Amino acid sequence: MKAVCPVCKLEVALPDDVVEGEVIEHDCGVVLEVKVSNGKVELKALEGILEDWGE
Ligand SMILES: [Zn+2]
Repeated sequence: MKAVCPVCKLEVALPDDVVEGEVIEHDCGVVLEVKVSNGKVELKALEGILEDWGE
């Protein structure tokens, strides 16, 4: 599984069994939360970009 880091726009390698809500630290130093919708994986930054914080 792969997704794109929303901060550095580089690919992020994800474990095959990645699940919603999983937190992954990317090489660029940002912490990403995994979101799964319609079979697609999206990543949301938990640190660095906080504009969507709180939802
Ligand atoms: Zn990154």
